[in-house]
Amino acid sequence: MILFNGVYFMAETAKIVNPDKTVLIADRQAGCSLADPVSAEDVRRLRQRYPGVPVVTYVNTPADIKAESDICCTSANALEVILSTGSPRVIFLPDTLMGANLQREIHHRGLALELIYPGPQHGTAEGRCEVHDQIRLADVLEIRKQFDIPRGHPRRLVMVHWECRPEVVAEADATGSTSDMARLIRERRPEKVFLGTECEMAANLESEFPDTEFVRLCNVYCRHMALITLDKIHLALSTMDDPYVVQVDPELSRRALHPIQRMLNLTAG
Ligand code: SF4
Repeated sequence: MILFNGVYFMAETAKIVNPDKTVLIADRQAGCSLADPVSAEDVRRLRQRYPGVPVVTYVNTPADIKAESDICCTSANALEVILSTGSPRVIFLPDTLMGANLQREIHHRGLALELIYPGPQHGTAEGRCEVHDQIRLADVLEIRKQFDIPRGHPRRLVMVHWECRPEVVAEADATGSTSDMARLIRERRPEKVFLGTECEMAANLESEFPDTEFVRLCNVYCRHMALITLDKIHLALSTMDDPYVVQVDPELSRRALHPIQRMLNLTAG
């Protein structure tokens, strides 16, 4: 049995990868603004518009979107997965801001790869993390001043998540997933860090690195993740039945497993 304390799509992914296990989630309403606006129909539309172009999808999407995809990725391995396709063009879903940031990084590395990510320019809805989207360039500049974190300082860093706006990412000293941020802090042992990410994610890093002073934005938190509370976890564990059990249609699950498995094989190899 797996109790998944995260948003629903993550619990669904756990069920797809472990079909023989019972997977529980404390609140199935825990969605995600990134994944919710983009549909499997959007993926089919993009495939029709760009025939033969591989589709890379964030693992944090519903099963029907995964089932239409070639390979999944996480925010930690997105670039590696995109480059692994060997294609000059890649469709990347569902995060529009992360798509723009990855495209910039690809250009920065001198690679000729065009990333096609959702947005009106391709006739689809945009996927944005409503949390990271709240962090604005003016906030980062103000924080640099107020907390004395000048650009390029060797031991004071502004670190932001890939899901932030491109101008925020351009201003940061480092960008990455939460695990990338943890790795960088472990390696560089900075004295002070501003973490441009969800408040509670930043809190986890703060407790892991007590020697670093953290500046975090605690008006920026995820209302979806916050639906998972200890009371509901207790109920889920004592009930172990509907509405806490995650079910995925077996045929859909089989199709959605393929792109997840390709990602796992790539990162394991
Ligand atoms: S912080 Fe919340 S809205 Fe943003 S990607 Fe994570 S679950 Fe989705």
